Amino acid sequence: MTAAVEEAPRPRFLPHGAFHYDVKARVEAWLAQPGRSARDVPAMYAKTAIILAWFAVSWTALVFFASSWWAAGALSVSLGLAIATIGSAVMHDANHGAYSRHVWVNRVAGWALDAMGASSYIWRTKHNAAHHTWTNLDAHDDDLHVGPFARLTVEQPLRAWHRAQHLYMWGLYGFLLPKWAYFDDFVNLSTGRVGSLRLDKPSRGEWAALWAGKVTFTLWALVIPLWRHDLLSVLVCLVVASFATGVTLAVTFQLAHCVEDAGFPVVAADGRLGLDFAEHQLATTVDFAPGNPIVTFLAGGLNYQVEHHLFPKVCHLHYPALARIVEATARDHGVAYRVTPGLWAAIGSHYRMLRKMGAAAPAPHRSVQAGLVA
Ligand SMILES: [Zn+2]
Repeated sequence: MTAAVEEAPRPRFLPHGAFHYDVKARVEAWLAQPGRSARDVPAMYAKTAIILAWFAVSWTALVFFASSWWAAGALSVSLGLAIATIGSAVMHDANHGAYSRHVWVNRVAGWALDAMGASSYIWRTKHNAAHHTWTNLDAHDDDLHVGPFARLTVEQPLRAWHRAQHLYMWGLYGFLLPKWAYFDDFVNLSTGRVGSLRLDKPSRGEWAALWAGKVTFTLWALVIPLWRHDLLSVLVCLVVASFATGVTLAVTFQLAHCVEDAGFPVVAADGRLGLDFAEHQLATTVDFAPGNPIVTFLAGGLNYQVEHHLFPKVCHLHYPALARIVEATARDHGVAYRVTPGLWAAIGSHYRMLRKMGAAAPAPHRSVQAGLVA
């Protein structure tokens, strides 16, 4: 188990309430129907094959066959989108254990993240433990911390340049993958922690996967392309691909948690929170663009992020069906269920949230728990 660092008061949710038990029972009943399975969904294996083939074809065509700048540009964008989709649709399910009932299948599919440059071992603490448990809690959810570049909560210090963060952050999202692969992982390794959590000591296999991943990523992203092309051409294509990856991944995660409708609860001095776990997830998470098949494919179903946070060990291909159950159950229990209908509306909401947090005297986040929310 990952241990919380002693100095940070460990947040405590209220005991599970009626909504939690009811939504769990309804979803389990739906999954128990004949022909359904929470994991090992045949369509998920087919989707994985399509995405990996998309990556392989894009990379091979870009490195070995592209003969014009426009072909190289289009293939770089295609490569970047394929990398983002490997992240959101394949490695994300796998590292949650939502891909297969077999641990080894999840582990092998989870290495897709290492091959894209970022450590799956660190991700499982950063994402599964810190972000999923303590969503949108400033001191604990590492996804809210992007260094001095942006201010995403009222608890974070306001700097002069944050006034323009709603404009420049879209460009910085483009550097997400190289920063993650060559900087963030090493910061986490050297400090031994992610947010308020201590990293477990890596097993020999995790250590080997981490370094094999860094070497593999460097080989396909830099060394082999440099064998075929000049440095400037390789760097331009890498920047284009990196922007396609970073903006797609950042948008996937930010539009669910860093938008106007998402709550940012604060933890009481004794660690108390005002909601139980399930209602906390609904208060801090917003679905977006439901029913948009392109967004759902590229985002690995994470536009249904409420369902993902409630049922992270269920294959993402089930999320559109689960959304109908979760929405109906929330309505029956009087719990707010938040959805931004379209992709552009969600992008606009994230833009306005960044602008508000970067303003000199930002308005507080939307209150979700009287007396406990910033
Ligand atoms: Zn997740």
